[in-house]
Amino acid sequence: MTATWSWKLLKAGSFRLDGGSMFGVVPKVLWSRLVEPDELNRIPLHANCLLLEDGEHKVLIETGCGGKWAEKDRQIFAMDGRTILDALREEDVDPNEITRVIVTHLHFDHAGGLTHLDANGNAVSSFPNAKILSQKTEWEDAVAGRSTMSRTYLRDHLDPVQKQMRLVDGEAEILPGLRVWPLTGHTWGHQVVRFADEAGTVCFAGDVMPTVHHVGAAFSMGYDMLPHANMQSKLTLLRQAAAENWRIALDHEPETPVVRVQADPADAGRFALEPVSDPTIASSSDR
Ligand SMILES: [Zn+2]
Repeated sequence: MTATWSWKLLKAGSFRLDGGSMFGVVPKVLWSRLVEPDELNRIPLHANCLLLEDGEHKVLIETGCGGKWAEKDRQIFAMDGRTILDALREEDVDPNEITRVIVTHLHFDHAGGLTHLDANGNAVSSFPNAKILSQKTEWEDAVAGRSTMSRTYLRDHLDPVQKQMRLVDGEAEILPGLRVWPLTGHTWGHQVVRFADEAGTVCFAGDVMPTVHHVGAAFSMGYDMLPHANMQSKLTLLRQAAAENWRIALDHEPETPVVRVQADPADAGRFALEPVSDPTIASSSDR
């Protein structure tokens, strides 16, 4: 018997990033057919997080951008100001109740919500009773600032939670039935998460495949440290998800954040995504 979890997708704010950066080597004439950019060439994204419960633990996967942003940054990224703390409040969950936080990696739109500003304007942990899990490589790269981006591993997202970090090296079972494993490419230490609910396996894919429009092999982000490695990671993920009928939760998809994967019988490298309209239906009846 594997442990089953009940879960819910939480929307921790919307933001926008440059469409060209989001689609890497894919020409604008192709990606702009899929998603329409605004007048500043930005496309709409969400920070999707998951809240998991098993009766004993409350686990958060991902934390979004958080709210510690200057007005100029809010405008650059069109942040709507909503945070993971707003989303948890709507679920009547006290941040102090969260016992584990899993982050796929530590870029600002994933780790920013780990901390918030207190009354004195200091960045403090948002989940003080939680163990926070990332890959060891990811933490080391983050504190060393190893990235092609100069403003993504920010110290006020990281330093206040340093003592809470539990660094994972490779695949690991975090709690019964809740596993992480490395799928690298977006960063060297990027990990994904999977667990089971009553209807089967759910995978949180992080930035391996941020939106439904990134399903094509070449549709990797300009933000990826290793685009070819991410392409391989995505193929591995899609193959397993199709073979085992997983639901995949997409971290930045604004419209259909949970999907199933269909393999193309005529082409081993092609997959179609089907939106799952009520992804938690099997686990919501007991709540
Ligand atoms: Zn991201």
